[in-house]
Amino acid sequence: MKTKTTRLEIETTEHTQMVEITEQVRRAVAKSGVRDGVCLVFVPHTTAAVTINENADPDVVRDITMELGKIVPWEDGYRHREGNAAAHLKCSLVGASETVIIENGAPLLGTWQGIWFCEFDGPRRRKALVKVISED
Ligand code: ZN
Repeated sequence: MKTKTTRLEIETTEHTQMVEITEQVRRAVAKSGVRDGVCLVFVPHTTAAVTINENADPDVVRDITMELGKIVPWEDGYRHREGNAAAHLKCSLVGASETVIIENGAPLLGTWQGIWFCEFDGPRRRKALVKVISED
């Protein structure tokens, strides 16, 4: 089994922001030389996450961040002293990883699907890890 890990650097510019990383993941998969297998995208942070959702209409990710902000308000009597409890909660709601099938050397995404890095306590310099695993 062949594997390759690529580190993506992501610089967020807003406090709450979804940054599309589909092309970086596509490049990491292409560079790995793997034709068929799986690709794991993992975010090693406690106030950021990764998700797969629509990349055609930018209002979709705007609606996602807006509604997450309503579900998890920034101030709500949290006990976490750092003051960013809401960002930790959103991180767990959205999740730290996504898995995508690789077919013919590319991530097998639906027509409207993109891979999104989710910043919940930015702006910051962030990382995402892309682990490509060959099925052979
Ligand atoms: Zn914290």
